[in-house]
Amino acid sequence: MSAQLIDGIALSQKLRAEIASRAAALTAQGKQPGLAVILVGEDPASQVYVRNKVKACGDVGFHSVLEKYEADLGEADLLARIEALNNDPAIHGILVQMPLPKHINPHKVIEAIATSKDVDGYSVLSAGELMTGLEGFRPCTPYGCMKLIESTGVDLRGKHAVVIGRSNTVGKPMGLLLLQANATVTICHSATPDLGLYTRQADVVVAAVGRRDTLTADMVKPGAIVIDVGMNRDDNGKLCGDVDFAGIKEVASHITPVPGGVGPMTITMLLMNTIESAERK
Ligand code: NAP
Repeated sequence: MSAQLIDGIALSQKLRAEIASRAAALTAQGKQPGLAVILVGEDPASQVYVRNKVKACGDVGFHSVLEKYEADLGEADLLARIEALNNDPAIHGILVQMPLPKHINPHKVIEAIATSKDVDGYSVLSAGELMTGLEGFRPCTPYGCMKLIESTGVDLRGKHAVVIGRSNTVGKPMGLLLLQANATVTICHSATPDLGLYTRQADVVVAAVGRRDTLTADMVKPGAIVIDVGMNRDDNGKLCGDVDFAGIKEVASHITPVPGGVGPMTITMLLMNTIESAERK
């Protein structure tokens, strides 16, 4: 059996076209969606991430603001900038690129963002909204994974979903979103003794670990959907995920590639949260 590829690039393009037409409709009413991105310091990977986010905004017709600050920016100054953006009616989403320099408390910064503009969905209030089923912003990566699963046409009701990883930004919200979609959910982590015992029972596996070959073909139930969030490097320095793609594609029914699976969806869902924020207003 050879699994069907879940193409994150194609799905992203489709969703971004929809977002662009929603943005055009808002702009025609004088309410162009706006995203502010703040970068503190010179981290090279962060520079690339913020550039990609700002470019994606332009591509779908959003207004965007990129605020870059030196690594020695004071915490109080950053909090003051966030407060100004909270009160700026042209801005519907605020994103502070992580990691921040050590002297700035990231929790304080995330909590300073108005919940109505927390398009990363990282604040305690946004997490609480997700937990209790209230309307709010879902963290972009797990939200993208849900869209990828939805694109297979498989109904999650009654299915057993296993999430590997329990971070606040991926694993835990992923588990909650799957639960909301009526799956029976198991969350595994580094203290799970026999990972395969759980994954072999799963109709859907989402791997969000950061270690290649965490999931191998012998750990997958035939016909399962496998979503690979991981971003790692193989021995040749090539980007790879957490799952043994070559082996698992012979067992699974659907699988996301790395690159070209979850990755492109993350920025797309940031745009989705921003348009939803602008529309709510
Ligand atoms: P993280 O905060 O480091 O969390 C990793 C999780 O994996 C932890 O919960 C950890 O368990 C668990 N884990 C570690 N070793 C394990 C093992 N042997 N068996 C089972 N679980 C194990 O990482 P993250 O931020 O969630 O990201 C996970 C991966 O996704 C990384 O590769 C990251 O680069 C990637 N990522 C990709 C995107 C994208 O857009 N494509 C976005 C976000 C993240 P403990 O909690 O017990 O330590």
